[in-house]
Amino acid sequence: MVIRPGKPPYLVYSDEHDNLFEDSSLLATGRSGNRYVVPATDELIELPEGSDFFHLPGRVPIGYDTVTKNFRPCNKGFAVAAFVTPAYSQLYFAAWKNKKNAPLLPLFAYTAIGWLKNKFYTTALRIDPDIRQDCNQFNQKLVEQGVSKLIKKFPENRLLQHIAHCATVYYCPAARNYFLFRWEAPFPTSPRCNSQCLGCISYQPKKHNISATQNRIAFIPTPEEIAEIAIPHLENAPNPIVSFGQGCEGEPLLAWGVIMQAIIEIRKHTTKGIINLNTNASMPHAIERLCKSGLDSIRVSLNSARKKFYDLYYKPKKYSFNDVLQSIQIARQFNCWVSLNYFVFPGLTDEPDEYKALRNIIKKYKINMLQWRNFNIDPDWYISHLGYTDKKQGIGIRNLISKIKDEFPYLYHGYFNPGRNIIMKYKK
Ligand code: SF4
Repeated sequence: MVIRPGKPPYLVYSDEHDNLFEDSSLLATGRSGNRYVVPATDELIELPEGSDFFHLPGRVPIGYDTVTKNFRPCNKGFAVAAFVTPAYSQLYFAAWKNKKNAPLLPLFAYTAIGWLKNKFYTTALRIDPDIRQDCNQFNQKLVEQGVSKLIKKFPENRLLQHIAHCATVYYCPAARNYFLFRWEAPFPTSPRCNSQCLGCISYQPKKHNISATQNRIAFIPTPEEIAEIAIPHLENAPNPIVSFGQGCEGEPLLAWGVIMQAIIEIRKHTTKGIINLNTNASMPHAIERLCKSGLDSIRVSLNSARKKFYDLYYKPKKYSFNDVLQSIQIARQFNCWVSLNYFVFPGLTDEPDEYKALRNIIKKYKINMLQWRNFNIDPDWYISHLGYTDKKQGIGIRNLISKIKDEFPYLYHGYFNPGRNIIMKYKK
């Protein structure tokens, strides 16, 4: 059940020991691009279980003063934001003002929060009913039992050892689900990449002074190593998916030959489940070969549907935005399910020109699904890197989603790669 506040909640701030307080002289405020916004009460939900709090060093929280009818700083402590649990899309960032020399924030999403009558609220909506990454789905003891069982069965398999590390050291939900023998299994393959994303979660140059949140896989597994563990998963798991292209690797298309061999081998043994590729879609010829080999779905990551913002963020090496679109076109020609992994950045994602560009792509390429995923990046860093000025006010993320839903009723919306049940129901 969605719990909403009956009236606007108050601003939350923190002290240096991470104790949280309310400032009842100010209303909780969100941010869209560079604008401060008081969220409507129907844009707020009780903070979902499994979400985290961040205290934001070097940042003064901003709230709305109902007496002066102005936004103003709260000088009692640090700004606070929520990292909202997966399956929820954020509507506003937390509102703050950087002090001089505020350190760059690590690669997470910083969503607005507030406090009212003993409850935290945040500005987000549940976009995907799938429970696969809900925190109450995981029992780490069972994950570790699954790890021991599979390592005993495939002791030489380096890919399995890599995924086991992800499940037991990084607590990666996708890896943990694999060892719980269900749903989507993550199979990284490529140590290299041909993009240079500003907010890359698996490689950050020293000069940025922030860490990548995951380490890249250091080897390319063999097709046999992949097939050995993919086949039993597809055969036995409920609603199974095997997914290439993970947070702990570069771009899987740089290992497309290995992936193709693995797909051919897998499909000799089982027709069950979905074989998916999360990708930057930079190599149309590779996408074509993979589709011909039996790839069922691709998820293409986009920070923006506009070339100028794509180029500034991805800094593509030896490929272009046009190659990405061509890959999408080829995938659709092969009747492969295409999702856009569309990074939600309030203010830019819902800007009228972005909305127009997104509509054009959906319409032209008959995209099957939008995955509305929160953009994990320091918003000020991203905005200044793009040289973005929000001359045109955003139409609101919630409004954008609802307009896209109205215009493209066949489009599926969510957060995760769908299994066969959804693909068969929604594919045109
Ligand atoms: S495409 Fe992925 S791996 Fe490559 S730079 Fe971007 S985020 Fe990093």
